[in-house]
Amino acid sequence: MNLLIDLKERFGFSTFRIGQRDVIESVLNGNDTIAMLPTGTGKSLCYQLAGYRMDGHVLIVSPLLSLMQDQVEQMKVMGEKRVIALNSFLPFKERKKILRNLSLYKFIFVSPEMVMNPNILEKLTSLKFCLFVIDEAHCISQWGPDFRPDYMKLGILRNKLNHPIVLALTATATEDVRSDIKKTLNIHSAKEYVYSIDRPNIGLMVKPVQNHEDKLQKLLEMVKMLKKPGIVYFSSKRLAEEVSEWLKEQGLLKTAYYHGGMDQEQRILIQQQFLYDKLNVICATSAFGMGINKENVRFVIHFHMPTSIESYLQEIGRAGRDGLMSLAVLLYCNSDEQLPLQIVENELPTDIQIGEYLKIKMNVKGQMNDQLELTDIQERFINYYWNFFKNRRTEDSSSLTQKLINIRDGRTQYKKDKIAEFLMWITGQGCKRNRLVSIFEENELETRPNCCDWCGLTFEQYESKEDTNLYEEDTSWQEQLKKILLPV
Ligand SMILES: [Zn+2]
Repeated sequence: MNLLIDLKERFGFSTFRIGQRDVIESVLNGNDTIAMLPTGTGKSLCYQLAGYRMDGHVLIVSPLLSLMQDQVEQMKVMGEKRVIALNSFLPFKERKKILRNLSLYKFIFVSPEMVMNPNILEKLTSLKFCLFVIDEAHCISQWGPDFRPDYMKLGILRNKLNHPIVLALTATATEDVRSDIKKTLNIHSAKEYVYSIDRPNIGLMVKPVQNHEDKLQKLLEMVKMLKKPGIVYFSSKRLAEEVSEWLKEQGLLKTAYYHGGMDQEQRILIQQQFLYDKLNVICATSAFGMGINKENVRFVIHFHMPTSIESYLQEIGRAGRDGLMSLAVLLYCNSDEQLPLQIVENELPTDIQIGEYLKIKMNVKGQMNDQLELTDIQERFINYYWNFFKNRRTEDSSSLTQKLINIRDGRTQYKKDKIAEFLMWITGQGCKRNRLVSIFEENELETRPNCCDWCGLTFEQYESKEDTNLYEEDTSWQEQLKKILLPV
């Protein structure tokens, strides 16, 4: 197999990144494959290149709308027009049209809750899929922090699609999670390719601060001093905006904010400006970066702590994809863990929401979601378990409610434990890198330069020598943007 020619012609690269070749070859040899590749190694290239070499369609299940959209746009930029995303945000008419012409698309992205929609399922089962890709496959497992009940149905979907080859991709999955992936997808003899989660070129730092003011000052100092471009992550949309504006006022003119609450065009605009170095600091929520292939991100700073080590790794993994020295800094102030704890507490439905929603379902009074003010995640949670216990609907609503409350409590506790684990990592003693790999059951690493603050890493090593904060007008990115926004 001369995969290198494909790699050069289709993607313009002359070498594979770690793991890519093994994974592609495994799929092309007809094996169901689980690939755990560190973030930033180009997982999507694996299914794209393999897909091009196979006859039939490629189905990609992806958990997040923005991620899906980013990937579709990126493939379009690379010249692939036969790519489409089916998600609940498609207007009805457009969805119908796409479904009618679905066989024209080689790469079909779909969200997990959409695949079970009878119309879509019927259409999908009429196509011949050569490859069934599950992106962020750790969402299958209850032992993963991003567990998505909808993912549990993917095994059934695979049966209905007549058992195409499975490629399950993830960046972080412990052994328990990988065994759950196998079980759910019924791919017991799958080949596993597991690579270290460690990214040696990213220096790890935790910077303790006194309070919010101090945090802002430290952030400003760092952003001014460090080599750019860089990303600053926030857990709050409002703060991402405010701090971005504030940094601009402080002279960092090439700063902008990005979060999921912005409309798509705006988001693409910011992404493109960042990609083409018109912006060099992005204040963002976790929505930023997933599908963005920017090689030279020099730093990732966390203003807030994410809800798990897995999310943290995913986000810092956007730095240093070119293999050059990069830095990840987490700003930590006492009791910063309160914010992720709050997020986790509010993520799943309350007792009342569960009870009322189930009553409505049982009496078939029609939907009243507006009054219950359920978020997407909350509604999905209840719906999933409602369907799950479908055959036992002889139960009264209060015992079913209690069941769901127990499940929710279990999930919430699990997530709180993940935060506690992360907090231990932040505040604990010893080499940060070694403590990180040990969480993922990997062997201890040898000491190496630019490791972490515990091993003597300092900011000075990442200092920028030139002033790159001034904005200059250039229109090349606008041309690029036009290309992306053009319809298929
Ligand atoms: Zn270290």
